[in-house]
Amino acid sequence: MNAQPTASLFINGKHVEGQGKELPVHYAYTGETIATLHEATTDQVAEACRAAKEAQPAWAAMAPVERGRILGRAAAIIMERNDELARLETLDTGKPIQETEVADWPSGAAALEYFAGLAATLTGQYIPLGADWAYTRREALGVCAGIGAWNYPSQIACWKAAPALIMGNTMVFKPSEETPLGALKLAEIFIEAGMPAGVFNVVQGRGEVGAALVTDPNVEKVSLTGSVPTGRKVYTAAAEGMRHVTMELGGKSPLIVFDDANLEDAVSAAILANFYSSGQICSNGTRVFLQEGIKGPFLERLAERVKAIKMGDPLDPDTNHGPIINPTQAAKIREAIASGQAAGARLVCGGPGEGAFIPPTVFADATDDMTIATDEIFGPVMTTLSFFDEEEAVRRANGTGFGLAAGVFTQDLTRAHRVVAGLEAGTCWINTYNLTPVEMPFGGVKNSGLGRENSAAAIEHYSQLKSVYVGMGGVDAPY
Ligand code: NDP
Repeated sequence: MNAQPTASLFINGKHVEGQGKELPVHYAYTGETIATLHEATTDQVAEACRAAKEAQPAWAAMAPVERGRILGRAAAIIMERNDELARLETLDTGKPIQETEVADWPSGAAALEYFAGLAATLTGQYIPLGADWAYTRREALGVCAGIGAWNYPSQIACWKAAPALIMGNTMVFKPSEETPLGALKLAEIFIEAGMPAGVFNVVQGRGEVGAALVTDPNVEKVSLTGSVPTGRKVYTAAAEGMRHVTMELGGKSPLIVFDDANLEDAVSAAILANFYSSGQICSNGTRVFLQEGIKGPFLERLAERVKAIKMGDPLDPDTNHGPIINPTQAAKIREAIASGQAAGARLVCGGPGEGAFIPPTVFADATDDMTIATDEIFGPVMTTLSFFDEEEAVRRANGTGFGLAAGVFTQDLTRAHRVVAGLEAGTCWINTYNLTPVEMPFGGVKNSGLGRENSAAAIEHYSQLKSVYVGMGGVDAPY
């Protein structure tokens, strides 16, 4: 299989070959090399940032509705080519085609469409001050650096580009070294949609290339999707230059199931919250808290349904569960499974699997201190824990440094809202899980990050306010 792009980088409207280290791209299912890219050198990162800096004033000066039209056209192109793009996403990530066709580029296109529509509505404020008055202008920040994780590479590129570009910023995006292909397609699609050269650029490389990007003197804002340790490093480096940041980091999110929950729906949600994308999702509800009365029937039904999950060739439309992104990540997940067993948690189904595949794995009778209940595994491993009452569930759900997401299943709506109000998480779901429509803000609290993606709230993180006081009379000086 061959997915070799025209060149590794995209700078100032052109394909450019990277002059840095080789970057092979493997198809996770077979391990074969499907493309060989090259990293950007520090000079090439600087060149991309300069191109973005030079393109920014003219892009920001364009009427917002014009910028919106370009993003809207890009969204339409993506949807026309969704089949082809989904296939590439599957090769890049190993995720089943039945997912990439509906969840990856379509969600990216939705973000472009949403912010395209919002463009013309973004205005400042008029502030009456008696005879005088003031107004605010919401202005672009300048060059934004986007750095992505490997689980939703194209969606992440679109989610970052859409609010940034609509506000008149320009962007240099670095995808994860594991999944470099989708962002290059996005850069080409933007040009095809009429975006000026230099507005959206792509550099490739490992962590050091990301680090060079974060500290480039032309960069005013850094938006990272990645793990908490990387987030700490990037936030610290960004702080040096007083840069704005958005941090979309990891989680160990709770999903609380009360006795009165609709059993079938709660089981469906727990499955989606742990096994979609082979569990490689930041907001997954990996700590499933089961109230004592529902625990038995829940685990029984869960085990039955998990057996029906079809693991295999990601390009087969019937496959539900694909391989893990790479052998290193698979080894980490296997270590986590072994640690759960060693700590005395009961393996309900699944296990270490073989090669690139780790089957959907469920632990029962876990305790809060086991590492399977404390650490982000980023794989198909669900840890279930039991609880007696609401106060206990909320307290234990909050007993983590993470705060990305949380869910609650109950038929008692008063309780649902009360519980959600008490949960320390940026995104919560009641009687569903992991739905992230572009209309709804998405992001974490505590160590899971800061800033919000999606919705009008994202605009605040890609713009700054200028206040303008307008004096309408004379200047009354006391001396
Ligand atoms: P990493 O934190 O390993 O990497 C994220 C990105 O940062 C990659 O592009 C990586 O490059 C780059 N990077 C690494 N070191 C540096 C550095 N010092 N300076 C700048 N950039 C750097 O995350 P993964 O790719 O492994 O993704 C999994 C993690 O992402 C999980 O923790 C998951 O929860 C989180 N995530 C969060 C989401 C959210 O929205 N909150 C959504 C999706 C994932 P490279 O990989 O090439 O080394």
